[in-house]
Amino acid sequence: MTVGLPEEEYVALRDKTFDAIWNELDPLEQEIEDNERIPYDKVWPVLRESGAFGLLIPREYGGSGLSIAQYLPIVAEFAKIQGGIRAAIHVHNSFAHALSEIGGREQKDALLPGAAVGEKSLAFALTEPEHGTGADLGTRARRDGDEYVINGRKWLITNSDFASHFLVLAKTSDTEVSAFLVERDRPGLSIERLPETMGCKGGEHGVVTFQDVRVPVSTLVGEEGQGQDHLERALEISRVFIAASSWGTSERALDLSRQYAQQRVTFGKPIAQRQAVQRYLAEMAVDVYALRNMLLDAAAKWDAGKRIPAESAMCKQFGLEAVGRVTDRALLVHGGIGYTRRHPIERLYRDARLNWLEEGTPTIQYLVIARELLEGYAFDDAWNAPGA
Ligand SMILES: Cc1cc2nc3c(=O)[nH]c(=O)nc-3n(C[C@H](O)[C@H](O)[C@H](O)COP(=O)(O)OP(=O)(O)OC[C@H]3O[C@@H](n4cnc5c(N)ncnc54)[C@H](O)[C@@H]3O)c2cc1C
Repeated sequence: MTVGLPEEEYVALRDKTFDAIWNELDPLEQEIEDNERIPYDKVWPVLRESGAFGLLIPREYGGSGLSIAQYLPIVAEFAKIQGGIRAAIHVHNSFAHALSEIGGREQKDALLPGAAVGEKSLAFALTEPEHGTGADLGTRARRDGDEYVINGRKWLITNSDFASHFLVLAKTSDTEVSAFLVERDRPGLSIERLPETMGCKGGEHGVVTFQDVRVPVSTLVGEEGQGQDHLERALEISRVFIAASSWGTSERALDLSRQYAQQRVTFGKPIAQRQAVQRYLAEMAVDVYALRNMLLDAAAKWDAGKRIPAESAMCKQFGLEAVGRVTDRALLVHGGIGYTRRHPIERLYRDARLNWLEEGTPTIQYLVIARELLEGYAFDDAWNAPGA
């Protein structure tokens, strides 16, 4: 059961974060898109001052300990501005939250107080160039006395340019996956850049190579062989965060389209008065409304202490389809000028496409949803309206 912050404190924190997003971070959009780099010297102090690094970190470790229902509107607001900032803060918050749930006391003490103020950060190292995820991983961790020796290669690892630690998933036997908390400066760990991305520009999603990297046994998260369970739990809630990004981007694309349709005049009338354009706007609103409500349900269940594998995969899948449709229509409402960098629609369209990939592609979401259905998932149980 996650209670979160008392209402008054939460509203003050949320409003402060929203102010920082719109007044201090949004104006950096052009600079980030032009240089394809996030100016950390400008962005970090704003995130620190607004409390964005500690949103999901428990209060005993210096964070704000928000509930998921409190956190999602803030994720959504970040997804309205430049996407590189959203991706960086998403990974930081999501895996600080994961560690607070699955880490041991010493691991949390070592990392979370620094993470709450952006001095430390945990990146997530799962994806590999030569292998699939889960049981197919190629990275190996071999026990050698009081240490493990890690060998393998990960790529597309967000925040690899500044993360102080990596949550590394590696096979400890032919069938078992384990999770390790690995410091970035361990001998044998090297990091290379990958080319710039289509959208969510400015962050780094590098290649992390482990060549005979020795780590103490104390870096094992939980027990040996628990990596797959940790992975599923971390991704379960992180998929909801990605769906909340889809909500935010969709809401902004709808707002911009509504404003543009009321201003743009053709044949003597604003295009908003044309039924064909009204239909685009109406369809966009349907997607935003449906996604918001799915997220409210998923957040309420997680905050009540329930596991939500089916709901989280459904939110993630519906979210990426919804933001895909909404940004398609936003582009149509804006006509040709929407395809230029003069309008944020062009950036929102590109940024949203990352939502297909983060925390698993659609085929993975279908696999999880189908597995849950076939194991007896019941929608009746999902109805939690007051008095129902
Ligand atoms: C900007 C960015 C940031 C990222 N950040 C991180 C990060 O911080 N940490 C991290 O670990 N990863 C990260 N990723 C990686 C991301 O999670 C993966 O790219 C994504 O999950 C897909 O995995 P893949 O690239 O290995 O694709 P592949 O597994 O090669 O998939 C290619 C296609 O084949 C399909 N496919 C693959 N295997 C199967 C199967 N068994 N059955 C059916 N279909 C299958 C997939 O659905 C997809 O359509 C990031 C990616 C990007 C682009």
